[in-house]
Order: sequence, then C-alpha cells, then structure tokens
Amino acid sequence: MDFNSWQRLAEQQTFIDRALINGRPHAAQSGETFAVINPATNHLLAHVAACGEADVDAAVKVARHAYDQGPWARMAPRERKAVLLRLAELLLAHREELALLDSLSMGKPVMDAYTIDVPGAAGVFAWYGEALDKLYDEVAPTGRDALATITRVPLGVVAAVVPWNFPLDMAAWKLAPALAAGNSIVLKPAEQSPFSALRLAELAMEAGLPEGVLNVVTGLGEHAGRALGLHPDVDALAFTGSTAVGKLFMQYSAHSNLKQVWLECGGKSPNVVFADCKDLDLAAEKAAFGIFFNQGEVCSANSRLLVERAIHDEFVERLAEKAKAWQPGDPLNPTSRMGAIVNARQTERIVQYIAGAEASSATCVTGGQQLTINGSSNFIQPTIFTGVTADQPLAREEVFGPVLAATAFDSEDEAVALANDHIYGLAASVWSDDLNRAHRVAGRLNAGTVSVNTVDALDVTVPFGGGKQSGFGRDLSLHSFDKYTQLKTTWFQFR
Ligand code: NAD
Repeated sequence: MDFNSWQRLAEQQTFIDRALINGRPHAAQSGETFAVINPATNHLLAHVAACGEADVDAAVKVARHAYDQGPWARMAPRERKAVLLRLAELLLAHREELALLDSLSMGKPVMDAYTIDVPGAAGVFAWYGEALDKLYDEVAPTGRDALATITRVPLGVVAAVVPWNFPLDMAAWKLAPALAAGNSIVLKPAEQSPFSALRLAELAMEAGLPEGVLNVVTGLGEHAGRALGLHPDVDALAFTGSTAVGKLFMQYSAHSNLKQVWLECGGKSPNVVFADCKDLDLAAEKAAFGIFFNQGEVCSANSRLLVERAIHDEFVERLAEKAKAWQPGDPLNPTSRMGAIVNARQTERIVQYIAGAEASSATCVTGGQQLTINGSSNFIQPTIFTGVTADQPLAREEVFGPVLAATAFDSEDEAVALANDHIYGLAASVWSDDLNRAHRVAGRLNAGTVSVNTVDALDVTVPFGGGKQSGFGRDLSLHSFDKYTQLKTTWFQFR
C-alpha cells in the first residue's frame, strides 16, 4: 500500500477504549480513563479505561472461574490447536488494521508493523498451536509395582504485563505458549499502546477461545500493573519491560502470594567487530539495523559497538554512510525506516543522553538532532558517537533510542572484557571470519543470545531472554512452556 492509502485507512481507524473482561467491554469501575496520543502527530487517539484494583480483581476472578470451570484447560490439545491456528489466520486477515493500531499509538513505521510485527505474532500463535499436540509426558523408571507419571500441567491464572515497543508481538510471545498450555490469562498492555492487544483478544474469541480465558485490563502500570503483581490469586506473572519495574514485580510477589515471576528486562547489547571480518559492508549494514530498527526502542538493540582498532575508522565511516538510510519520517510513509519516538518524555530522555555525550570526550560522527515532522518533535536522527569510554552513561545505561556508542579495542581479551563489563546480559553479536575465534568469543560472551556474523538473531524456534539484570526465563521455543506449566508427579502403587 502507498502513503495515501495508509493515511486514508488511518483516518477511518477506530479504537477500542475499554478493557475486555469475560468477553465483554469493561469501563473502569472508577470511571477513570487515560489518554493515548499518537506521538507522530500529538493527536489524541482515544481515552481508554484506566483500570484499578477492583477491575483487576474482577478480571482475575473471571480468569480463575474460566480455568476451574471452563472448557479450555480440559479441551483436547488438538482442539486448542485448532483455535490457535484460526487466530493466526485472523491476525493475518486483519494485518493492515493491527499494523496501524501499533504504528499510530507508538510511532513505529507502519510497514515494519505490517511486514514484521503482525506476521510475526501470527507465526507465533501458529507455531504454538502446531506444537501443543506433539508434546509427550514422561514415565519414571520405577519398579514394576508402581507407575509414576510426570506430566506438565497448566498453572491456572497467568498474568502478562508487556511494554509498548512491540505491542502485538510482546503480547503474542506470552499469550501463545500460556494459552497453548491451557492457562487462563489476564493481559495488561502498556498504557501507550493498548489497542492491538484489545483487538487480539476480540479476534481470539472469534477464533473460538471461550469467554473469560483471555482478559485484557487496560491501565497505568502503577495501578493496573501493580494490582496484578500483588494479586493473591495470580499463579504466575510474565513481564517484559524495564529492569526497574521488573524488580518491583519480584517485590510484589514476595509481598503477596509468591507467584512465579518471569522477567524479560533491559539490555545494552555489545556488537563486536573483529578486523578479520571479511564483509565489513554487511557488518556495517547490520550494525545500523541493530541500533536504528524500531527507532532503537528494542531491548536487545546493539547499542554498544566494539570495533578492533585496525578497522575502526573505516568501519565507522561505512556505518555513518548506512545511517543515512535511517532518517526518521512519517510512520505512515512506506519509505520511512524510522518513525517517531514513543512520546515526548522518552524523546527528552534520549536528547539528554545525546547532550551528555556531546559534553563528554566522545565524538558525534553523525546525527544528534531532534527533528520536527508534522508538528511533532518526537523524531531523532540516527546518531553515532565514537570514543565512548566504558564508564560513560552512553556505555552504561539503556537509552532506548537511535543512539550508538562506539569504542575501539586492541585485543580479543579486551573486547570480551568490555562486552561483559555490564549489568545486562541479553544479547551480543560477533563478527569474524575466523571460525575458531567466532566460536571462542561466542562462548565467552555473557548473553542469552549470541549472534555470529549477524545481529539480533531471533526466531520462534529458539529461546529469547537474558541473564544478569536482563532477567530470567525464556520466551519463544518449546522452552517457554517451562514458564507456563509445572511438573506434576502421580505415583500409582500397585498391590
Ligand atoms: P516499563 O517497565 O516502564 O513498562 C512495561 C510495563 O510495565 C507496562 O505495561 C507498564 O504499564 C508496566 N508498569 C510500569 N510501571 C509499573 C509499576 N510500578 N508496577 C507494575 N507495572 C508497571 O517499560 P517500557 O518503558 O514500557 O518498555 C521499555 C523497557 O522494556 C526497556 O527497558 C526495554 O529494554 C524493555 N524490554 C525488554 C524486552 C525483553 O524481552 N527483554 C523486550 C522489550 C522491551
């Protein structure tokens, strides 16, 4: 579709403005709402129900009832599979609408949402749908006088609290395995981007998901999110978001019912380029993608570039050239590779990091400017700083914007030490055509995913998540069932 067609569709787009509990729209009991603003225009999209403790409690009760009494958990895997596959098809059938809902609310290029996020979410539902009737349980090696089965059983009520950077995908990553396993769910989308989650829940019911199995509470983190974290009848809480809020969820759990907490938090991923990398052009192109895709608002963004000194200047020059292709523009324009930053607050935060780096010994080789497009100033140029030392905020803190911190290194040991000298451990990349070195360095990097000769390798077939203060537990792949099921031993003693 061209720019005009997206603009026309955007003008006609409607927004669900209430929570969804037990299959029905639900206004907050307090009557309160919060405003969702399009960051690319600063126009109001909708006032949405600001759920609080009472609404969260209602949603959890419904989810519990659906789990205890309802058909979902008891349905044969093959039947649950059919529902998830239908949902995957429905997501694709509503591809334009879902892409628009995310683009309009959080500023990403609509074409990214259309070509990556929506098919990605559909693929995740299809994959877990396909997986769930192929999982076998275990029989323990007891004596002949006993039979001990070890089965995976659902947990019951799972809550998911997700961020705004990939609204539909982050919801899908939690919901698909949790639903496949037979749980009931209460989902809280980020207040910046609640619409695709609400539409997803409607489509799930259209696909045949029984009422009450998937409930969506809209609201602010410190009210609705906190209430879910503290709720005594939530069995597990899966969170993606900042490390600061991840730590709160562990406290909420400790102060309530010791619910399981699974955290996917921040990152400051290193991208290590060695001089023996033969295709520096590809490495530069991927390094630009690694930091500028989604406006840099990616938890696993390759925000620290470590380059061997022998190729440092040449590589940075190539990279600065590639950065030109990432100038921000109207998110509805199919030629825009970067869109708007999620809101004015986040834009200001990024601007402060740039100002701090400019005042330091680091050098800005490209970008650094805030731009105004269509009357909104939530746009930032792709920005690269070189000579960033390991102690500077740009190397230490997650900016969550299109700002790269580059540092030169002289030896493999120094590269590994710099890469690992961090509180985060989500992802890392290595570029080298020496297989021995690539393998050795990949083994030494402290990260949940190491991409070799690419960046941000990601697929539903492989686990995603990190260590250290990036969190624990894994999304995607069969391993994510570990988060949404527990092992049950049943011992039959024979006479
Ligand atoms: P955030 O932590 O502010 O918000 C995430 C969610 O938590 C939102 O739904 C929000 O409403 C809720 N929340 C906020 N304050 C809360 C509170 N006091 N109590 C309970 N819930 C609360 O994060 P964000 O700004 O939406 O997203 C950016 C962050 O997410 C970045 O740090 C990024 O690295 C991280 N992230 C991580 C991954 C990953 O998989 N590791 C993926 C995407 C984003």
